[in-house]
Amino acid sequence: MKDKCWICGNKADSGEHIIKKSILENSFSNISQKKPIFWRINGKVQKNIIGSLKSKKFHFEKKICSKCNNELTQPYDNAFDKLLNYLSCNKGNNKIDLSKIFGKDYEKQMLYVKLYLAKIFMTKLLSSNIKYIDLPVREFAEGILNGKDIEDFFIDFKYNNYPTNYIVSSDFEVKFIKDTDIPLSIKQFITIDSITIEMIYYYRF
Ligand SMILES: [Zn+2]
Repeated sequence: MKDKCWICGNKADSGEHIIKKSILENSFSNISQKKPIFWRINGKVQKNIIGSLKSKKFHFEKKICSKCNNELTQPYDNAFDKLLNYLSCNKGNNKIDLSKIFGKDYEKQMLYVKLYLAKIFMTKLLSSNIKYIDLPVREFAEGILNGKDIEDFFIDFKYNNYPTNYIVSSDFEVKFIKDTDIPLSIKQFITIDSITIEMIYYYRF
């Protein structure tokens, strides 16, 4: 697995962004040493003030290949960009008409949003210290490779009241069946300014 792309199995040569660079550029265009953003990754472990979008802190270690990261998942990345831009421009509006963002194609585009988040979720999971449970790598890879739904993975978007200039990529929260080491779910969230995205995978029995 090491040094191999978790999606297609080729050599992993691409350092995926934890949060897309274009999103960072749109949401935090005036970032500088004087106007930094606050970056929290993995709970209390690291809290960083970052003065440049070029910071290495925004990258995962290499877990995927450039073909999967660019060509294959570009429609997914674009759908996510589009949704996030719309949500940032319509703050506080809790009823979003997806057809206004994506047109008639909205169901497919929302699947693409989910597949983008699945890429981020699994890449971070594989870079984490969660090695003690079986990870649904095949299920995620097949969804991403074939543009198919990952049925046990769910996403949710919410507006938050956090201070602005705040980015969070949370720790993973793993739940187990009571008194066993059988995993039930893996949960994580990301916050980009006023938007929080929850992601959860449920194990199937
Ligand atoms: Zn690949």
